[in-house]
Amino acid sequence: EQLANQIAAGEVVERPASVVKELVENAIDAGSTQIDINLEEAGLKKIQVIDNGEGIAADDVLNAFKRHATSKILTQDDLFRIKTLGFRGEALPSIASVSRFTLETSTGEEEGSYVYLEGGKVKEHKPHSLRKGTNITVADLFYNTPARLKYVKTLQTELSNIVDLLNRLAMSHPNIAFRLVHDGNQMLRTTGNGDLKQAIAGIYGVSTAKKMLAVAGEDLDFKVSGYVSLPELTRAGRQYISIIINGRYIRNFALNKAIIAGYGSKLMVGRYPIAVLQIEMDPLLVDVNVHPTKQEVRLSKEPELMHLIETSIKAVFEEQRL
Ligand code: ADP
Ligand code: MG
Repeated sequence: EQLANQIAAGEVVERPASVVKELVENAIDAGSTQIDINLEEAGLKKIQVIDNGEGIAADDVLNAFKRHATSKILTQDDLFRIKTLGFRGEALPSIASVSRFTLETSTGEEEGSYVYLEGGKVKEHKPHSLRKGTNITVADLFYNTPARLKYVKTLQTELSNIVDLLNRLAMSHPNIAFRLVHDGNQMLRTTGNGDLKQAIAGIYGVSTAKKMLAVAGEDLDFKVSGYVSLPELTRAGRQYISIIINGRYIRNFALNKAIIAGYGSKLMVGRYPIAVLQIEMDPLLVDVNVHPTKQEVRLSKEPELMHLIETSIKAVFEEQRL
């Protein structure tokens, strides 16, 4: 059983960023409005996620560490839940099997719980008083799987993967207040007031957000909204292009291209805009048959959506006489 968990961990948790992703997504799923993430040494020494979500009932706490134990119900229209199906109920046992893992949780209605595991084995389990919510601390990630540790890149690379991930989670959930602190330095803070532009300010800074223009477009199948940077505000890489479909961050090369096409000759060669686009569509138009760890999706009306994105961005620049 422990071995099975460690093998599963090889698929679910390759690096600190994958642990952060699973823990923060659980906090989001729990209905949290505030999520704090504290890291030490790019997460290798410590990853702590504190949320104010629904918590786990005392009776259920140990179940969370059993494989394929999930409290989440699959709804048919929840396409992205389907996408993560392969990992349902695997994250906590997998992460716990390769770390020293502390869980404090309370539903706010009864006494809460404290559980401490080492290498997936429960070492301590006791009642614990806590406000409603969940605190998870993952210490010494991969301490018992040195081979895995070898695959981890430099701390700088791991940290930038985590920051990139949280930027995208924060952008796709402007109604949640996120805060990321690494070795005492605040890397990101959003207000959670629901406003996308304010979330962008919390992520990229107020002066960047001020140089972003609102985009909006609609056709029969798609609704596009969000912000794109003024052509003068560009970056050397395309990691500042974010696409959110039905509230979920995705990657799609063709849609990136459509955003860049919207700028036409306004972009210098090798430069990319900062852009955050939210797209609403019928979930049936998204092909979910892609590898679950990748955020790549295929779209059945991709050329139509590309056209809508390109023309919506062009319209913004025309309106601004840019
Ligand atoms: P999954 O998310 O696929 O259900 P996980 O292993 O990630 O599986 O989590 C197992 C279960 O633990 C979840 O179904 C949920 O009931 C509970 N859980 C995990 N994290 C939290 C959290 N932050 N708040 C509330 N419940 C949580
Ligand atoms: Mg999960």
